[in-house]
Order: sequence, then C-alpha cells, then structure tokens
Amino acid sequence: MKDLKYYYDKAIKNHFALGAFNFCGLETLQGIVNACKNLNSPAIIAVSESALNYMGNYTIALANIAKQETDGLFLHLDHGKSFDICKKAIELGFDSVMIDGSDLSIEENIELTKQVCDYAHSRGILVEGELGQIKGIEDDISKQKDIYTNPDAALYFVDKAKVDSLAISIGTSHGAYKFSGEQTLRFDILDNIEKRLGTFPLVLHGASTINKNCIDIINNNGGNIVNANGVPENLLQIAAREHNIVKINTDSDLRIGITAMVRKILAESKDLIDPRKYLGSGREKVQNIVEEKIKNILYSANQL
Ligand SMILES: [Zn+2]
Repeated sequence: MKDLKYYYDKAIKNHFALGAFNFCGLETLQGIVNACKNLNSPAIIAVSESALNYMGNYTIALANIAKQETDGLFLHLDHGKSFDICKKAIELGFDSVMIDGSDLSIEENIELTKQVCDYAHSRGILVEGELGQIKGIEDDISKQKDIYTNPDAALYFVDKAKVDSLAISIGTSHGAYKFSGEQTLRFDILDNIEKRLGTFPLVLHGASTINKNCIDIINNNGGNIVNANGVPENLLQIAAREHNIVKINTDSDLRIGITAMVRKILAESKDLIDPRKYLGSGREKVQNIVEEKIKNILYSANQL
C-alpha cells in the first residue's frame, strides 16, 4: 500500500513536495479533493486543533468520504500542542500527527515529541515535530518573532525524538502578512540542516503565496486587507525541487480564495440568499488554487 512514508521517500528521491492543505468545512475539503482527483494527485488534508473543535465529529466522516473520492489522501493533525490531542487524533483515525513543542526548551520539546512518537509509531502513525519558531498567526497560535532552526539542534532533536519529519523555520510565517521587508527564505540555513540530516524529510509551514488578485477582490468588495504578502512561488519551487522539503503547508491562500469569492458574489447579488451559490463559487476557487499549486510548485506528473 502507498502510505504517507512511501510518498515522503518518493518526494525526496524524485524532488517534489506533497501539498498539505488545511480545511475547516465541507466546501474547502471538496475544493481540495476535486483538485486532487482532477490531477490524480496525492495530498495531505490537514486539520488544526481549532478546526477539529469547530468541525467536531464531522471531521473524520468528511475525511473518510474524501479518501473514497480519490487515492492518496492522508489526514493530518496540524500543530497538536499536547500529547492528549495527538492521542485523540490517532484514536479518531488520523494518518499522521504533528506535535508542536517549539515553544518549549529543546529538552522538553524532545521529551514531549518522543512521548507522541512512542504512542504513534506503535500504531503505524507518522509524527512531525517542530524545531525553531515559525512566526505569525495560525488559528489560536500567535508568535511575534521568527526563530530560525539551528542545524546542530535539528540533528540532536531528530536523533533523540525519533520523528518522521521535521518542520523547520527558515523565514516562512503563518497568516497573510508574511514579510515586512524582502520576501526571501534562508536557504543557507536549509542547506546546513540538510548537511546534518542527510535525506531526512523536512516540512515548510506558512507557505501561502497570498494571491494579489484575491486580495484585490476582497478589498474591492467591502474588505480591508492591507500589506498582505506571501512567499514567492519561485522560492517554493526551489524548496520543493532542490531541497528535502517533502510537505508544503497551505492554509491562508485557501481562506483568502473562499473569502474573495463569497464577498464578490454577495456584493454582486444583493438579494442572494442561497449559500450554495456563494459557497459553491468559493469551493471552485479553492479547487483552482490547489490545482495551480500542484502544477506550478509541488510537482509534475512524471515525478510521482
Ligand atoms: Zn503551521
């Protein structure tokens, strides 16, 4: 069976990255699934702790139906902050969990991550850890400062905690306001991490490109989003194709896409009350965004 480990190994060998797309409801998930189905592409469907709380028991039901729709989808817990939430996700049937102990000291982070790995690995579930801090706002998690991943600490962490993949901080950030200055990533740090870790699977969070066109649609239809910017597409291509980044996370781009369409349709049709009309066009936008990412950033078909 082609499990997530298979795709991580393949991503390193064939120089691509899997898309990890966050969802928080039916329309986002349908948009992601339709894109994957269309392009015959694997992907990670990710749920944060707050999205899990929001969707409740519908989460697993929706994910299971999504998996029946297309092959190669994996349900992943994004930014689990405790052993208990990771355990709960595993019991619910998630394929992979992230334990984010990046706020802790490295020794405490190792201890917590190791505890999750012991539990998860005995059940065949993959674990992503995080070292260094990725700034920005992601749901309830807000971090002001970017603390880049230290390459020596990364080696020590991976060795001790026994994670299957590692989220690193090289300049991406969560949310829609990623750079105040130059939009750049620290590939020098990534090189050094790779020198220490060899072909170990690495993960890039906060990798939305923040589509200017969608921001304009939002602002032209009653919204007010100022100074939003994201990671340039070409930097993500380099990360996916020239480095051991096996998973690239996208949340904000999908939120912005769905919001843009909902605002536009409602502004254009003031008497509209059918949610299928505006959410349906949001769903189409999500599909379109995911398809573009798969084609432009993540891989081409012959890499799979
Ligand atoms: Zn993240």
